[in-house]
Amino acid sequence: MKTFAVIGDPINHSLSPAVHNAAFKSLGMDCAYMAYRVPREELAEGVASLRESGVAGFNVTIPHKISITDHLDSVAESCSVVGAANTIHNESGSLRGHNTDMEGFMRPLRNSGARIRGGRALLLGAGGAARAAAAGLVREGIGSILVCNRDRERARGLAEYCGGLGATVDHGPLPSFVAGGFDMVVNATSAGMGGVPFPVDMSGVDPDTIIYDMVYRPIRTDFVAQAKAAGAKHVIYGWEMLLAQAALSFEIWHGVEAPVDVMRRTLLGGFA
Ligand code: NAP
Repeated sequence: MKTFAVIGDPINHSLSPAVHNAAFKSLGMDCAYMAYRVPREELAEGVASLRESGVAGFNVTIPHKISITDHLDSVAESCSVVGAANTIHNESGSLRGHNTDMEGFMRPLRNSGARIRGGRALLLGAGGAARAAAAGLVREGIGSILVCNRDRERARGLAEYCGGLGATVDHGPLPSFVAGGFDMVVNATSAGMGGVPFPVDMSGVDPDTIIYDMVYRPIRTDFVAQAKAAGAKHVIYGWEMLLAQAALSFEIWHGVEAPVDVMRRTLLGGFA
Protein backbone atom coordinates (compact mmCIF):
# COMPACT_ATOMS: atom_id res chain seq x y z
CA MET A 1 0.00 0.00 0.00
CA LYS A 2 1.21 3.51 -0.86
CA THR A 3 0.72 6.18 1.79
CA PHE A 4 0.08 9.91 1.37
CA ALA A 5 -0.36 12.67 3.94
CA VAL A 6 -1.04 16.30 4.66
CA ILE A 7 1.00 18.14 7.28
CA GLY A 8 0.22 21.48 8.91
CA ASP A 9 -0.93 23.07 12.14
CA PRO A 10 -3.88 23.22 12.72
CA ILE A 11 -4.85 20.24 10.60
CA ASN A 12 -7.94 18.69 12.21
CA HIS A 13 -10.41 20.43 9.83
CA SER A 14 -8.57 19.38 6.65
CA LEU A 15 -10.84 17.76 4.07
CA SER A 16 -7.86 16.41 2.09
CA PRO A 17 -7.88 12.90 3.64
CA ALA A 18 -11.58 12.42 2.81
CA VAL A 19 -11.15 13.77 -0.74
CA HIS A 20 -8.07 11.70 -1.64
CA ASN A 21 -9.30 8.51 0.08
CA ALA A 22 -12.58 8.77 -1.87
CA ALA A 23 -10.56 9.15 -5.09
CA PHE A 24 -8.45 6.06 -4.26
CA LYS A 25 -11.57 4.03 -3.50
CA SER A 26 -13.33 5.04 -6.69
CA LEU A 27 -10.33 3.95 -8.79
CA GLY A 28 -9.61 0.81 -6.72
CA MET A 29 -6.14 2.06 -5.75
CA ASP A 30 -4.27 0.48 -2.84
CA CYS A 31 -3.42 3.81 -1.22
CA ALA A 32 -4.20 5.67 2.02
CA TYR A 33 -4.02 9.37 2.92
CA MET A 34 -3.67 10.68 6.49
CA ALA A 35 -3.41 14.06 8.24
CA TYR A 36 -0.56 14.79 10.66
CA ARG A 37 -0.31 17.82 12.90
CA VAL A 38 3.25 19.11 12.62
CA PRO A 39 3.87 22.26 14.71
CA ARG A 40 6.00 25.02 13.18
CA GLU A 41 9.12 24.17 15.23
CA GLU A 42 8.91 20.43 14.46
CA LEU A 43 8.99 20.56 10.66
CA ALA A 44 12.47 19.00 10.30
CA GLU A 45 11.52 16.01 12.48
CA GLY A 46 8.15 15.70 10.71
CA VAL A 47 9.75 15.54 7.26
CA ALA A 48 12.42 13.10 8.50
CA SER A 49 9.80 10.71 9.84
CA LEU A 50 7.76 10.93 6.62
CA ARG A 51 10.91 10.09 4.66
CA GLU A 52 11.65 7.15 6.95
CA SER A 53 8.13 5.82 6.58
CA GLY A 54 8.54 5.82 2.78
CA VAL A 55 5.61 8.18 2.23
CA ALA A 56 4.78 8.37 -1.51
CA GLY A 57 3.73 12.02 -1.36
CA PHE A 58 2.33 14.69 0.94
CA ASN A 59 0.60 18.05 0.95
CA VAL A 60 1.87 20.93 3.03
CA THR A 61 -0.29 23.65 4.49
CA ILE A 62 -0.05 26.56 6.97
CA PRO A 63 2.48 27.29 8.48
CA HIS A 64 5.01 25.26 6.45
CA LYS A 65 4.48 26.25 2.80
CA ILE A 66 7.62 28.41 2.62
CA SER A 67 9.89 26.70 5.19
CA ILE A 68 9.32 23.23 3.65
CA THR A 69 11.51 24.20 0.70
CA ASP A 70 14.58 23.98 3.01
CA HIS A 71 13.85 20.28 3.57
CA LEU A 72 13.45 19.13 -0.05
CA ASP A 73 15.92 17.59 -2.51
CA SER A 74 14.61 19.54 -5.52
CA VAL A 75 11.81 21.89 -6.51
CA ALA A 76 9.76 22.17 -9.70
CA GLU A 77 9.49 25.49 -11.54
CA SER A 78 5.98 25.98 -10.09
CA CYS A 79 7.68 26.25 -6.68
CA SER A 80 10.45 28.61 -7.62
CA VAL A 81 7.99 31.03 -9.28
CA VAL A 82 5.77 31.26 -6.19
CA GLY A 83 8.53 30.73 -3.58
CA ALA A 84 6.62 28.05 -1.68
CA ALA A 85 5.66 24.37 -1.99
CA ASN A 86 2.40 22.59 -1.14
CA THR A 87 2.71 19.21 -2.89
CA ILE A 88 5.70 16.94 -2.30
CA HIS A 89 6.40 13.89 -4.44
CA ASN A 90 8.72 11.13 -3.23
CA GLU A 91 10.65 10.17 -6.38
CA SER A 92 12.60 7.03 -5.41
CA GLY A 93 13.65 8.52 -2.08
CA SER A 94 14.17 12.06 -3.35
CA LEU A 95 11.61 14.64 -2.21
CA ARG A 96 10.56 17.05 -4.98
CA GLY A 97 8.41 20.10 -4.24
CA HIS A 98 5.60 21.41 -6.45
CA ASN A 99 3.20 24.31 -6.00
CA THR A 100 -0.40 23.91 -7.17
CA ASP A 101 -1.61 27.36 -6.00
CA MET A 102 -0.99 29.05 -9.36
CA GLU A 103 -2.50 26.35 -11.59
CA GLY A 104 -5.22 25.65 -8.99
CA PHE A 105 -6.20 29.30 -9.22
CA MET A 106 -6.10 29.39 -13.02
CA ARG A 107 -8.09 26.19 -13.80
CA PRO A 108 -11.51 27.41 -12.59
CA LEU A 109 -10.81 30.82 -14.13
CA ARG A 110 -10.11 29.29 -17.56
CA ASN A 111 -13.18 27.07 -17.24
CA SER A 112 -15.31 30.15 -16.49
CA GLY A 113 -14.49 31.63 -19.89
CA ALA A 114 -13.12 34.79 -18.25
CA ARG A 115 -11.23 37.21 -20.44
CA ILE A 116 -7.68 36.68 -19.20
CA ARG A 117 -5.48 37.75 -22.13
CA GLY A 118 -5.64 41.55 -22.28
CA GLY A 119 -8.13 41.64 -19.40
CA ARG A 120 -8.23 43.96 -16.40
CA ALA A 121 -8.00 42.42 -12.92
CA LEU A 122 -8.49 43.83 -9.45
CA LEU A 123 -6.56 41.70 -6.98
CA LEU A 124 -7.36 42.22 -3.31
CA GLY A 125 -4.57 40.95 -1.04
CA ALA A 126 -0.80 40.60 -1.26
CA GLY A 127 0.02 37.39 0.63
CA GLY A 128 1.04 33.99 -0.73
CA ALA A 129 -2.29 33.27 -2.43
CA ALA A 130 -2.31 36.68 -4.14
CA ARG A 131 1.23 36.09 -5.39
CA ALA A 132 0.24 32.76 -6.96
CA ALA A 133 -2.82 34.38 -8.59
CA ALA A 134 -0.77 37.30 -9.92
CA ALA A 135 1.89 34.97 -11.35
CA GLY A 136 -0.78 32.88 -13.10
CA LEU A 137 -2.53 35.93 -14.53
CA VAL A 138 0.72 37.49 -15.77
CA ARG A 139 1.79 34.24 -17.42
CA GLU A 140 -1.49 34.04 -19.32
CA GLY A 141 -1.22 37.57 -20.63
CA ILE A 142 -3.49 39.62 -18.37
CA GLY A 143 -3.58 43.20 -19.62
CA SER A 144 -3.39 44.95 -16.24
CA ILE A 145 -3.60 44.17 -12.54
CA LEU A 146 -4.41 46.56 -9.74
CA VAL A 147 -3.12 45.06 -6.47
CA CYS A 148 -4.77 46.49 -3.37
CA ASN A 149 -3.85 45.47 0.14
CA ARG A 150 -4.43 46.67 3.71
CA ASP A 151 -0.65 46.83 4.21
CA ARG A 152 0.33 49.10 1.32
CA GLU A 153 4.01 48.07 1.44
CA ARG A 154 3.07 44.45 0.78
CA ALA A 155 0.97 45.61 -2.20
CA ARG A 156 4.01 47.45 -3.52
CA GLY A 157 6.15 44.33 -3.00
CA LEU A 158 3.71 42.21 -5.02
CA ALA A 159 3.59 44.82 -7.79
CA GLU A 160 7.40 44.72 -7.92
CA TYR A 161 7.36 40.92 -8.05
CA CYS A 162 4.97 41.12 -11.04
CA GLY A 163 7.32 43.68 -12.60
CA GLY A 164 10.06 41.03 -12.32
CA LEU A 165 7.82 38.71 -14.35
CA GLY A 166 7.56 41.38 -17.04
CA ALA A 167 4.14 42.87 -16.19
CA THR A 168 3.13 46.40 -15.36
CA VAL A 169 1.04 46.36 -12.22
CA ASP A 170 -0.44 49.20 -10.18
CA HIS A 171 -0.92 49.03 -6.45
CA GLY A 172 -2.85 50.79 -3.74
CA PRO A 173 -4.46 50.45 -0.32
CA LEU A 174 -7.51 48.26 0.20
CA PRO A 175 -10.34 50.42 -1.20
CA SER A 176 -13.54 51.08 0.71
CA PHE A 177 -15.56 50.63 -2.50
CA VAL A 178 -15.06 48.53 -5.66
CA ALA A 179 -16.07 50.39 -8.82
CA GLY A 180 -16.86 48.83 -12.21
CA GLY A 181 -14.57 48.37 -15.19
CA PHE A 182 -12.79 45.13 -14.22
CA ASP A 183 -12.99 41.79 -16.03
CA MET A 184 -12.39 40.07 -12.71
CA VAL A 185 -12.26 40.96 -9.02
CA VAL A 186 -10.30 38.43 -6.96
CA ASN A 187 -10.38 38.24 -3.19
CA ALA A 188 -7.02 36.80 -2.14
CA THR A 189 -7.23 38.20 1.39
CA SER A 190 -8.38 36.05 4.29
CA ALA A 191 -11.05 38.66 5.07
CA GLY A 192 -14.47 37.05 5.20
CA MET A 193 -13.22 33.74 6.64
CA GLY A 194 -15.53 32.33 9.25
CA GLY A 195 -18.46 34.35 7.92
CA VAL A 196 -17.33 37.80 9.08
CA PRO A 197 -18.33 40.86 6.97
CA PHE A 198 -16.05 41.72 4.03
CA PRO A 199 -14.39 45.12 4.64
CA VAL A 200 -14.91 46.40 1.06
CA ASP A 201 -18.24 47.61 -0.37
CA MET A 202 -18.87 45.51 -3.50
CA SER A 203 -22.07 47.25 -4.63
CA GLY A 204 -20.35 48.92 -7.61
CA VAL A 205 -19.24 45.74 -9.46
CA ASP A 206 -20.47 45.19 -13.03
CA PRO A 207 -22.83 42.23 -13.51
CA ASP A 208 -20.44 40.66 -16.06
CA THR A 209 -17.34 40.92 -13.89
CA ILE A 210 -16.01 37.53 -12.72
CA ILE A 211 -16.12 37.44 -8.93
CA TYR A 212 -13.48 35.06 -7.56
CA ASP A 213 -13.20 34.38 -3.84
CA MET A 214 -10.28 32.28 -2.63
CA VAL A 215 -11.83 32.00 0.84
CA TYR A 216 -13.70 28.68 1.08
CA ARG A 217 -15.16 28.72 4.60
CA PRO A 218 -18.02 29.52 4.55
CA ILE A 219 -18.85 28.47 0.98
CA ARG A 220 -20.85 31.65 0.43
CA THR A 221 -18.89 34.54 1.92
CA ASP A 222 -19.98 38.14 2.43
CA PHE A 223 -17.71 39.11 -0.53
CA VAL A 224 -19.76 36.80 -2.79
CA ALA A 225 -23.10 37.74 -1.21
CA GLN A 226 -22.42 41.46 -1.71
CA ALA A 227 -21.35 40.96 -5.34
CA LYS A 228 -24.43 38.84 -6.07
CA ALA A 229 -26.66 41.46 -4.49
CA ALA A 230 -25.06 43.95 -6.92
CA GLY A 231 -26.10 41.67 -9.82
CA ALA A 232 -22.87 39.70 -10.41
CA LYS A 233 -23.65 36.77 -12.71
CA HIS A 234 -20.36 34.85 -12.61
CA VAL A 235 -18.92 33.64 -9.32
CA ILE A 236 -15.98 31.31 -8.73
CA TYR A 237 -16.02 29.95 -5.18
CA GLY A 238 -12.99 29.14 -3.02
CA TRP A 239 -13.92 25.45 -3.00
CA GLU A 240 -13.42 25.32 -6.79
CA MET A 241 -9.77 26.30 -6.38
CA LEU A 242 -9.41 23.85 -3.49
CA LEU A 243 -10.81 21.05 -5.69
CA ALA A 244 -8.51 21.98 -8.57
CA GLN A 245 -5.54 21.84 -6.19
CA ALA A 246 -6.51 18.41 -4.88
CA ALA A 247 -6.87 17.15 -8.48
CA LEU A 248 -3.47 18.60 -9.39
CA SER A 249 -1.75 16.91 -6.41
CA PHE A 250 -3.42 13.64 -7.41
CA GLU A 251 -2.14 14.01 -10.97
CA ILE A 252 1.42 14.81 -9.81
CA TRP A 253 1.52 11.73 -7.58
CA HIS A 254 -0.28 9.20 -9.76
CA GLY A 255 0.26 10.44 -13.30
CA VAL A 256 -3.39 9.82 -14.22
CA GLU A 257 -6.40 12.12 -14.47
CA ALA A 258 -8.05 12.69 -11.09
CA PRO A 259 -11.65 11.47 -10.55
CA VAL A 260 -12.85 15.06 -10.12
CA ASP A 261 -16.59 14.27 -9.75
CA VAL A 262 -15.98 11.96 -6.80
CA MET A 263 -13.58 14.47 -5.25
CA ARG A 264 -16.09 17.33 -5.71
CA ARG A 265 -18.93 15.37 -4.08
CA THR A 266 -16.71 14.43 -1.13
CA LEU A 267 -15.43 17.98 -0.70
CA LEU A 268 -18.89 19.55 -0.77
CA GLY A 269 -20.23 16.81 1.52
CA GLY A 270 -17.43 17.63 3.96
CA PHE A 271 -18.43 21.30 4.02
CA ALA A 272 -22.05 20.39 4.65
P1 NAP B 1 -1.40 35.28 3.86
O1 NAP B 1 -0.13 35.10 3.09
O2 NAP B 1 -1.37 35.23 5.35
O3 NAP B 1 -2.04 36.69 3.39
C1 NAP B 1 -3.22 37.15 4.00
C2 NAP B 1 -3.76 38.32 3.20
O4 NAP B 1 -5.05 38.67 3.72
C3 NAP B 1 -2.91 39.59 3.26
O5 NAP B 1 -3.03 40.28 2.06
C4 NAP B 1 -3.58 40.34 4.43
O6 NAP B 1 -3.38 41.73 4.37
C5 NAP B 1 -5.03 40.06 4.12
N1 NAP B 1 -5.93 40.21 5.26
C6 NAP B 1 -6.01 39.42 6.35
N2 NAP B 1 -7.00 39.84 7.15
C7 NAP B 1 -7.55 40.94 6.57
C8 NAP B 1 -8.61 41.82 6.92
N3 NAP B 1 -9.31 41.66 8.04
N4 NAP B 1 -8.91 42.83 6.08
C9 NAP B 1 -8.23 43.00 4.92
N5 NAP B 1 -7.19 42.19 4.54
C10 NAP B 1 -6.86 41.18 5.36
O7 NAP B 1 -2.49 34.19 3.44
P2 NAP B 1 -2.64 33.47 2.01
O8 NAP B 1 -1.94 32.17 2.04
O9 NAP B 1 -2.31 34.47 0.97
O10 NAP B 1 -4.23 33.13 2.00
C11 NAP B 1 -5.20 34.14 1.82
C12 NAP B 1 -6.58 33.49 1.77
O11 NAP B 1 -6.67 32.65 0.62
C13 NAP B 1 -6.89 32.59 2.98
O12 NAP B 1 -8.25 32.76 3.33
C14 NAP B 1 -6.68 31.19 2.45
O13 NAP B 1 -7.47 30.22 3.12
C15 NAP B 1 -7.15 31.36 1.02
N6 NAP B 1 -6.58 30.36 0.10
C16 NAP B 1 -7.45 29.56 -0.53
C17 NAP B 1 -6.99 28.61 -1.40
C18 NAP B 1 -7.98 27.75 -2.12
O14 NAP B 1 -7.59 26.68 -2.63
N7 NAP B 1 -9.23 28.15 -2.20
C19 NAP B 1 -5.61 28.48 -1.64
C20 NAP B 1 -4.72 29.34 -0.97
C21 NAP B 1 -5.23 30.28 -0.08
P3 NAP B 1 -2.13 42.42 5.16
O15 NAP B 1 -0.94 42.18 4.28
O16 NAP B 1 -2.52 43.84 5.23
O17 NAP B 1 -2.05 41.74 6.48
